[in-house]
Amino acid sequence: MTVQVGILGATGAVGQRFVQLLDGHPIFELACVTASDDSVGRTYRNAAEWRLSSEIPAFVADRVVRETDPAAVPDDVDLIFSSLPSDIAADVEPAFLEEGYVMSSNSSNDRMAPDIPLTIPEINPSHLGLIEVQREQRGWDGALVKNPNCSTITMVPTLAALDEFGLESVNVSTLQAVSGAGYSGVAAMEIMDNAIPHIGNEERKMETEARKLLGDFDGAELELHDADVAASCNRIPTIDGHLENVFTGLASNPEPAAVRDAMRNFESADLHSSPEQLIKVFGEGRPDRPQPRLDRSYADGMGVVAGGVEETTDGIQYNCLAHNTLRGAAGASLLNAELLVEEGWV
Ligand code: NAP
Repeated sequence: MTVQVGILGATGAVGQRFVQLLDGHPIFELACVTASDDSVGRTYRNAAEWRLSSEIPAFVADRVVRETDPAAVPDDVDLIFSSLPSDIAADVEPAFLEEGYVMSSNSSNDRMAPDIPLTIPEINPSHLGLIEVQREQRGWDGALVKNPNCSTITMVPTLAALDEFGLESVNVSTLQAVSGAGYSGVAAMEIMDNAIPHIGNEERKMETEARKLLGDFDGAELELHDADVAASCNRIPTIDGHLENVFTGLASNPEPAAVRDAMRNFESADLHSSPEQLIKVFGEGRPDRPQPRLDRSYADGMGVVAGGVEETTDGIQYNCLAHNTLRGAAGASLLNAELLVEEGWV
């Protein structure tokens, strides 16, 4: 089966990762790329500041960038990936959904809407059932699925693994890479030799999205997980890979070894882009891992790496890391799209 796809915002930091991941993908064939009016009409080679490898992928280099509008998308496209800035996505995405497109979106608008699935295939695939609710409530022929924010997706697989020990609270502090702010997001003069102890709205996204992802869906409504989540987000001068220090409060008192086993054994999904082992865990004696430069490419950037698992007075503390534009963004949308195909929504 081949599905023709389009990428909205294809020239940006996440859009370029989509292009990279779609090169040779067994199901998805890239039919069109869109961006802002500044890029429309230019070749992709000319419009995108390609920095991911020395060569821009040949299959996309000479494509002409199209307008971000359903009328500009070829008729045989069934699935749309969205990596637009959220304020633009809030205007544009409904137009595609009204036209019947299935959309897998990175943008943060509507992630917490009660009728929109916020999905990580290995964690909460059943939440896709919200598509029926969404179609009924919004009158869309299409379907909208969101993936979480990159810092949320880094910690939630580890929290899902800890849930069996009675997850009651989470305190997390992040060290986030500059690519998380997009192509023109952080000026070099601002971030080099520096750290910025706040990332606009990121803290609230982590606190709310984590509870939605871990929540229960009864087929009609979704109940948020009742853990308290508090986050503090920091930007540091790494290029890719978000590192997070997590302190959990647990109802039971597991040994660190039992927690490491629960993380290691947490089941992955049987999809083309899901890693065989979702969470790699460094054992005792390696409190200095994971590290962005050494560990962000684990499982081709689609896995999560944890380490430094230790007991605290209330529960367990550890560090975790994931590649923010792969597992945290384009790869997350791609996995959701693979799940949509697998479950017959496309
Ligand atoms: P980015 O590098 O700034 O790229 C933005 C893209 O949107 C570019 O292709 C840009 O086209 C296009 N665009 C901007 N204004 C537009 C308009 N008015 N109409 C049509 N297209 C427009 O941003 P990014 O980091 O890739 O982020 C994209 C989305 O993913 C955001 O919603 C972000 O919150 C989310 N996200 C990002 C990350 C990450 O790690 N970076 C992680 C998770 C989620 P031009 O090149 O023509 O300007």
